[in-house]
Amino acid sequence: VRACIYIYIINIHSTHIYFGYQVLRITAQDAEQIALLKELPEEILGLDYWMPPSRVSLPVDVHVPFHSLQAVRVFLAYHQIPYHVMIENVQDLLDDEEREMVKYRSFPRSTDDFVYTTYHDLNSINSFMDMLVAENSNLVSKIEIGKSYEGRSLDVLKFSTGANRPGIWIDNGIHSREWITPASAIWSAKKIVTDYGRDPVLTDILNNYDIFLEIIANPDGFAYTHSNDRMWRKTRKPNPGSSCVGVDPNRNWEVGFGGSGASSNPCSQTYHGPSVHSEPEVKAIVDFVKSHGKLKAFLSIHSYSQMLLYPYGYTSTPAKDQAELHELARKAVSELQSLHNTAYTYGSVITTIYQADGITIDWTYEQGIKYSYTFELRDTGRYGFLLPANQIVPTAEETWLALMAIMEHTRNNPY
Ligand SMILES: [Zn+2]
Repeated sequence: VRACIYIYIINIHSTHIYFGYQVLRITAQDAEQIALLKELPEEILGLDYWMPPSRVSLPVDVHVPFHSLQAVRVFLAYHQIPYHVMIENVQDLLDDEEREMVKYRSFPRSTDDFVYTTYHDLNSINSFMDMLVAENSNLVSKIEIGKSYEGRSLDVLKFSTGANRPGIWIDNGIHSREWITPASAIWSAKKIVTDYGRDPVLTDILNNYDIFLEIIANPDGFAYTHSNDRMWRKTRKPNPGSSCVGVDPNRNWEVGFGGSGASSNPCSQTYHGPSVHSEPEVKAIVDFVKSHGKLKAFLSIHSYSQMLLYPYGYTSTPAKDQAELHELARKAVSELQSLHNTAYTYGSVITTIYQADGITIDWTYEQGIKYSYTFELRDTGRYGFLLPANQIVPTAEETWLALMAIMEHTRNNPY
């Protein structure tokens, strides 16, 4: 057995091995069982909640290390909390994903040759952006809004047909393990240059608004998911006094910062960070939003859960535009579903998932950007963050319809 494992490690170079790790889907029956789940010693057991315990109506997905499986199973059985195994062996999915990436590894000479049906690393995504800009210099440019902690440039594609336009912002990959989001954004970038001048609605949007598309909002984390640990979510800035690295860049924003819907523990996946906007990846967007001053829609793309969410996350007080945001979400979700019959739920963050403090869209909304939304793309947990590459294009296609619905509404309702 030891020899086998040794060979295994050599085969997949330096990345974290998830051999025998499982994702369990737990369906708590009542508030008491939710409370019990919250008592599980997360850090000691090495649990990684893909969907944390929040309310009875939502399943709990937890990624459990091989060495903790028995303890977790015993705990659940003892308290008679129902569960089933969602992912039998996480490493199998990682191996499939890696094999598939190797198979389609190529060096395209144009964005027409680019393989949209596979996942890409940072170099490949950077070269995609450069090709897109070179091929469409009248429409697309690349702007650097700052540097990541490790010094990588934080690049945003700007689609523009004239000066001094109001803007629509779309960011992806701020949680680095949510690979479907940059993959889908790459497809969207190509879609924009293809449809401009052909699709009348998009053409009209681009004749009145600039679109800013950040494909990789957390490049340090993303690079780390390729080199070391596919399941990395946070930034890569060390935390003084702790051996745990990184901050949750979707808990680091000023509105509701430090509330109970985030963690003050640097080892937590939802650590809010030492101070407001402490993460350069967050600060760069903050500075951009403020200096631009005319963003009218702000769409922050995550995965997974198939949800379209609007503010607030930090308070159950409804946003003043709740009725309009809700109706637009309904429309966007119905457009999305019309293509591949993918069902989304929608609503405010706090009522639809859980209280989340210091999140991006609460801040952008309070900056006056009315159309602030977060997407949670495919799927609902069968593969979770390890969505197979054959779902990239269908996900991008359907998401595009929802993005278009929101952009069109923004154009039709100037403020
Ligand atoms: Zn996320």
